[in-house]
Amino acid sequence: MLCPFCRSDDSRVVDSRSGQDGTLIRRRRECTACNRRFTTSETSVLMIIKRSGATEPFSREKVISGVSKACQGRPVNDDDLALLAQRVEEALRSDGQAEVEAQEVGMAILAPLRELDQIAYLRFASVYRSFSTLEDFEGEIALLRAAPSATSSSQSSQAVSAAKTLVN
Ligand SMILES: [Zn+2]
Repeated sequence: MLCPFCRSDDSRVVDSRSGQDGTLIRRRRECTACNRRFTTSETSVLMIIKRSGATEPFSREKVISGVSKACQGRPVNDDDLALLAQRVEEALRSDGQAEVEAQEVGMAILAPLRELDQIAYLRFASVYRSFSTLEDFEGEIALLRAAPSATSSSQSSQAVSAAKTLVN
């Protein structure tokens, strides 16, 4: 790591701290050439495997841009979206995998979005889960009414099929 002041590449670590449940480490360094101090941070990169097979680093900004359309006109602010993206990242990292499929990112968005705003959730889910009929919406709405605070997306898809059966 180059010293940001004099560009020397020799520095010593004077302090290390981990934060965010150990997923981030900050190091305070002192440059051996100019003796000035600076901080570096180190985090493991979570890679997303796209449908094409290509990989890219996980990006909270992409999560936010992915849901912002569904949130248009809804009482959702930038802080809400930042928190949602953080929760998505935490959910993905909690699995302990270095790489996850792009589809899992969408699945991880569903639960926190549902807690944030039910209309935005319905919009997002209708596209992401390819709702094709009114019954798909009815089933999801029945589910939201029945269990507004449920958070597990796997539970929700099971309940959707149950709700569909009821509607039919
Ligand atoms: Zn220096």
